[in-house]
Amino acid sequence: MQLTFLGTSAGVPTKRRNVTSMVLNLAGIRKAYWMFDCGEATQHRILDTPIKTPKIEKIFITHLHGDHIFGLPGLLCSRSMGGSTDPLTVYGPKGLKNYLETVLALSASYMTYPLEIIEIEAGQLFDDGDLIVSAYPLTHRVECFGYRIQQHDKPGPLDAQKLAAENIPRGPWMQALKQGKSVTLTDGRTIDGRDYLGAPQAGKILAIFGDTQPTGEAIHLAADADVMIHETTLETAMEEKANHNGHSSTRQAAELARDAGVKRFIATHISGRYGPEDIGRLLVECQAIFPATEIAEDFLTIDI
Ligand SMILES: [Zn+2]
Ligand SMILES: [Zn+2]
Repeated sequence: MQLTFLGTSAGVPTKRRNVTSMVLNLAGIRKAYWMFDCGEATQHRILDTPIKTPKIEKIFITHLHGDHIFGLPGLLCSRSMGGSTDPLTVYGPKGLKNYLETVLALSASYMTYPLEIIEIEAGQLFDDGDLIVSAYPLTHRVECFGYRIQQHDKPGPLDAQKLAAENIPRGPWMQALKQGKSVTLTDGRTIDGRDYLGAPQAGKILAIFGDTQPTGEAIHLAADADVMIHETTLETAMEEKANHNGHSSTRQAAELARDAGVKRFIATHISGRYGPEDIGRLLVECQAIFPATEIAEDFLTIDI
């Protein structure tokens, strides 16, 4: 999978950073994209990427602040004007349905595709057989969720040497063996695929936070994640102001990354007060606590 940041600024866009959005490319699982938040002008960012709007099958909204949702109606309409007929599901907090239905009705917009809007509560949202998505409550000035995306473990590879050593020929049963099922061979032997599989490969875990001050559920949302995406709206010296507004400082996000045992932390949702000359300083503040920190910029793409 690959995650691309389309907007990394907090509150208002700057020349270098648009407001929040990111897209998860499910490459390796299926040809589809999942979007997380959709700030104003997100679709302009998409134009500079290979992302195909009709291939966005799900959009997850963390909360209803404008810098996370004002791009959504435009994106939905463009997807329709492109003639897409592929279904789209949008998940988010209470009020999302009213917001979208009102703006689409007032603008006389219509959808060429089935649009489902699901107002969520904390807990597991679904398990599609490849990925499990769960929502965790955060602490912000409005209801806000973070999303944990957990890939199922993959069965280990078939042990070809062991199969050869026991004179088990190749045949149509290989597929079932790979899935760990029992099969009966043409010579009458029944063998259990689980005896011929290597160690399972752990599925990836991605933790995507919405805006939040430090909060109790965060450690569970981020636990052992391969990648944690978390806001660092303000620097450590402005922590009080950050928390007062429902945000986190560089120090607080880095401490969470450390305490949750994540492998990699990408900081985003950077206040517009910081220019390129400030980013090194913010990074040092994080890395002093959690060395595997990076600060996102627009169009940054990472492998997960
Ligand atoms: Zn925000
Ligand atoms: Zn917010």
